[in-house]
Amino acid sequence: MDDKAPKFADSMFRSAGDERIIGMRLTGGCLCGAVRYCVTGEAYYRALCHCSQCRRASGAPFVAWFSVRPGQFEIVQGEARLFASSDHAKRGFCAACGTPLTFVSSRWREAVAITVCSLDDPEAMPPLKQIHAADRVSWVGDCDDLPGGERARDCR
Ligand SMILES: [Zn+2]
Ligand SMILES: [Zn+2]
Repeated sequence: MDDKAPKFADSMFRSAGDERIIGMRLTGGCLCGAVRYCVTGEAYYRALCHCSQCRRASGAPFVAWFSVRPGQFEIVQGEARLFASSDHAKRGFCAACGTPLTFVSSRWREAVAITVCSLDDPEAMPPLKQIHAADRVSWVGDCDDLPGGERARDCR
């Protein structure tokens, strides 16, 4: 075998760009730990979604998503319950704790979208753009100006 050959034959490990993404193997899961997943290779899409569906499904002002090919995503523990949020889309979540995990659509069969903040290290997947920004909750843009020093409230 040629020593100069790429260590990983699959092209998804090779393209340049964000070094943290190349050859990545990221893990994540839900709040209660019942569902765990693993992602390998490069994410080809990273975006904040401000649409009203993502907002409602998460209970948060927007959702950070990243997308990979179906073969790059594997649930390694437990099982995601699927909710059909439209005639073409299914949202995966933990049936025990409710954490939103995935989005798949019959319109984009080559994609699995995964919530960035279900990753063990969300810092590994910064967003590259915003989508449905026209629907953004108006106060989201003001958040940087809010006081942020308080640590008293315990969210556990
Ligand atoms: Zn859970
Ligand atoms: Zn959305």
